[in-house]
Amino acid sequence: MGGIDNLGIETKIEEREDFVNFKVKPLFVTFPKNEEEVVKLVQYAYERGIPIVPWGAGTSLTGAVSCEECILVDMKNMSQILEINEVDWYVRAQPGVNLEFLNRKLMERGFLLPPDPASFFLCSIGGAVSNSSGGMRGVKYGTFRDWVLALRVVLPTGEVIQVGEPFRKNRAGYDLVHLFTGSEGTLGIITEIWFRIIPVPRETQVSLLSYMPDLDSTAGVIQDMRRAGILPEIAEYIDNDVVHALNSQLNAGLRESKGGLLMLRVLAQDLDRMMEILNRWGGDTVQLNQEEWERVYSLRAQSAIALKAISKEMYVEDIVVPVSRLMDAIKRIRKLEEKYQVKMPIIAHIGDGNLHPNILLSDRQRAEELFEEVGKVAIELGGSVSGEHGIGVQKAKLMGIQVKAHGGIKVLEIMKQIKDIIDPKGIMNPGKYVELAYREAKSDR
Ligand SMILES: Cc1cc2nc3c(=O)[nH]c(=O)nc-3n(C[C@H](O)[C@H](O)[C@H](O)COP(=O)(O)OP(=O)(O)OC[C@H]3O[C@@H](n4cnc5c(N)ncnc54)[C@H](O)[C@@H]3O)c2cc1C
Repeated sequence: MGGIDNLGIETKIEEREDFVNFKVKPLFVTFPKNEEEVVKLVQYAYERGIPIVPWGAGTSLTGAVSCEECILVDMKNMSQILEINEVDWYVRAQPGVNLEFLNRKLMERGFLLPPDPASFFLCSIGGAVSNSSGGMRGVKYGTFRDWVLALRVVLPTGEVIQVGEPFRKNRAGYDLVHLFTGSEGTLGIITEIWFRIIPVPRETQVSLLSYMPDLDSTAGVIQDMRRAGILPEIAEYIDNDVVHALNSQLNAGLRESKGGLLMLRVLAQDLDRMMEILNRWGGDTVQLNQEEWERVYSLRAQSAIALKAISKEMYVEDIVVPVSRLMDAIKRIRKLEEKYQVKMPIIAHIGDGNLHPNILLSDRQRAEELFEEVGKVAIELGGSVSGEHGIGVQKAKLMGIQVKAHGGIKVLEIMKQIKDIIDPKGIMNPGKYVELAYREAKSDR
């Protein structure tokens, strides 16, 4: 293994796949136990010019951990919660901590880290930060970007830096915390994270499950809810194909209906107004008790897993449009379904305009063409090709098109220059994200 054994770090030879079947064929997989071991690994890669790729839990949906002949750095052995500060309201932890585990520990102390990607029970916090993941509570609490205070990072040269401070108000310099958050492992390996936490909310909330006539009326509910100034904690939608997949693959026992399910959690004080809006749009609504809600929330989280059980081939879209353009987006998605003669089951963080139409075609070429067309719908409606899953390999071309169209090629040039400054040898998770988006956009000039 060319000297890697001499580093004294646990190492294995194995191939992997991520959740959507992107291949990971590393030279070897390593399992560092602490930051010093990460530094040794990065220095080893830097000296030899070998690609090095961090791996959290591999639930990426965009090929962000795929690689060949790289060193794969699996962070699972760096999984300690280092400090929960109940006065300064932060938690400091290593990147390999599982998100659900972290929140369980926080809740024991009355605190919460709100972002909850539907993979919360699988994913690592390092992966969630590097992806700037969102989730079901995103409509109220935003994405991971809104919760990271500070980071320790091993740069691609092997140097270690700390960016940010463990408190909210800090104006000392450019915002590097948010440069590394969402950088998809292309700028360094995160070894420690400080998250802002909040006390578990004490307001009384009510949970609603509404059987909707269709997705258009669901969009109508969301738009009227916003006009009425109602901010839900959760506003999630799954169409009936997803409900059916949950029933057939996970024995969910959910009632199937033509138009799918809208799941809402709102403050008790907003219940009457919310019900009035739901009724107006034809929702058949039931109020859930806490136990029923937890079951529905958990099923929603497993929706992608149920779809994956039906079709091994799965392209997960992650488009976002301004909520005011939701109906236009839905119309155009329906037209694409007609054009390609295929139905895309939709999971949506509908409250913040984030739609996941899922392409389950086995014909790769058609799937990729459709994938691109759906992405372009978002760009043309003033939205984004990714709200939370990130770019990886899969959406790099679309990202290039979006940034060029909305911001200009100069923006991509600046992003590429940042990558080059921090990673002069181009070893850190190379050939993806900004690097690939820039290359694609330039070749398309
Ligand atoms: C069933 C399912 C549901 C999902 N639902 C959601 C959702 O609702 N919202 C959402 O946003 N995402 C969702 N995802 C996508 C994904 O699970 C999340 O984005 C998750 O946070 C990624 O975490 P991970 O630990 O698996 O990271 P990985 O997939 O291992 O890695 C993700 C990226 O982070 C980098 N990385 C990992 N660890 C580090 C580190 N320590 N330092 C630097 N870079 C690092 C990797 O190189 C890669 O680029 C879902 C995925 C699945 C399978």
